Amino acid sequence: MVYNWIIYTQFNLYPPLCLLCSSTDTNGMDICNPCLADLSHNVNCCRICALPFSQHSSDSPICGNCLRQPPPFDSCHATFAYSYPISNLISGFKFSGKLENGRLLAQLLIRSIEANRLPLPGLILPIPLHRSRLRERGFNQALELALPLGRHFGIPVDIRSCKRTRATEAQSNLHKRERQRNIRGAFSLKIKLEHTHVALLDDVVTTGSTVWELARLLKKNGVQQVDVWALARTTPL
Ligand SMILES: [Zn+2]
Ligand SMILES: [Zn+2]
Repeated sequence: MVYNWIIYTQFNLYPPLCLLCSSTDTNGMDICNPCLADLSHNVNCCRICALPFSQHSSDSPICGNCLRQPPPFDSCHATFAYSYPISNLISGFKFSGKLENGRLLAQLLIRSIEANRLPLPGLILPIPLHRSRLRERGFNQALELALPLGRHFGIPVDIRSCKRTRATEAQSNLHKRERQRNIRGAFSLKIKLEHTHVALLDDVVTTGSTVWELARLLKKNGVQQVDVWALARTTPL
């Protein structure tokens, strides 16, 4: 893919530079250690859905939502709480096509998966975009994050099995119940997956309704373990 070729050419031409403060002291990543330490790592969160807990509400490791209605996915890892400056790095990548942000975000996700010793799946499935959204944006940010991860861990990245068959209203404008209604039936599985352990990859998980819907579809079709990997988790409206 031309896009990835550009990323790798860039990597050779331009040495790593902290994208937040321009320091060149970066240990091979596009972020320096002090800026990395300042990021809001999502450590105090629900063990199942990664919902960030407020500081004083972490008596149970599982949030009220997951206790009431366990999600169809087995776990969700979201490296960061969605806040500045991660939010800016993600929106710059997603909406302004800043490729260098994408490179850093993939590096951060890889680092976090390794640090947390997450079980590795047989397949990575980036959340598909509907073709109309793909045309508008020019690329699928989840796929562009998944490709370097797949290469790093030696795991295939699936881009053919699952399609988003219905264009849905932008989820970010909707509340939780509306999101659930909006996304229902939006995906279809074109090819049966051979792998029984799959990681769904998305940039940001908000209410979880998108990954919920896709995980439900995979579980219905014989996948036994579905984990969710994301860069960030927001606290829903
Ligand atoms: Zn820095
Ligand atoms: Zn939860």
